[in-house]
Amino acid sequence: MKLLVMGPPGAGKGSQSKRLVEDYNLTNISTGEMFREAYKRGEKLGIEAMEYIEKGNLVADDITNEIVRKRLMKKAAESSFLLDGYPRTVNQAKALDDMLEEMGTRLTAVINIVVDKEVILERMVGRRVCKSCNATYHTKFRPPDKEDLCDECGGELYQREDDKPASVRNRLNIYESKTKPIIDYYKGRGVLVNINGMQSFEAVYANIRRSLREIIR
Ligand code: ADP
Ligand code: ADP
Ligand code: ZN
Repeated sequence: MKLLVMGPPGAGKGSQSKRLVEDYNLTNISTGEMFREAYKRGEKLGIEAMEYIEKGNLVADDITNEIVRKRLMKKAAESSFLLDGYPRTVNQAKALDDMLEEMGTRLTAVINIVVDKEVILERMVGRRVCKSCNATYHTKFRPPDKEDLCDECGGELYQREDDKPASVRNRLNIYESKTKPIIDYYKGRGVLVNINGMQSFEAVYANIRRSLREIIR
């Protein structure tokens, strides 16, 4: 199983990917998370990337392609993986095609989570993330049991710098101009699955599972 999960920021990619990764036993490759982790560890890559991320801009294609290539070439990713938040530009999609060709494989499905702008904004401003384990919450839709503490590990929850209003608008514009065109790139290959993301967590997940079952059959 080789999956790609797409959609605007705040669509629910991370939340749905987490379950897919567990249920299908996939190697999770989230470029956003990899950048944030590298930043936390004080690595040069992370510090450079965070300058783009905080403003809501995309990290340069060559840097992003390189970290994905490294991960895909690791043994664990050979048979099954899930890419969350990559590719985000047509150039990245082309680079990914080259990598997959080198690996002698292709994508099983491209899951595109579709959500209206109003819903996106509400989801992004309410998102909270655990500092220790990266679990994701929402102040209204998925509040933790104890305020500002992670249910899973007790870690402190924080609001990502790029989820603050100043960056959010920029991220949405960039999604429209740079990332959305990828949908056309995958259309016509018979792998694109559009999923209505404006439903409960469970309903969205059920739709994804159903589509995957049909594709595999
Ligand atoms: P979201 O889940 O809200 O869509 P991500 O965690 O996927 O956000 O990404 C956060 C930020 O990291 C992006 O806004 C961008 O700055 C950077 N980033 C993540 N993936 C990529 C990518 N494939 N190309 C360029 N920048 C990326
Ligand atoms: P993405 O990775 O696409 O940016 P996330 O999975 O991080 O999106 O979700 C963004 C925010 O919206 C999080 O706070 C998450 O808890 C919440 N969220 C995700 N899916 C749903 C849903 N189906 N209904 C309500 N809230 C959701
Ligand atoms: Zn946690």
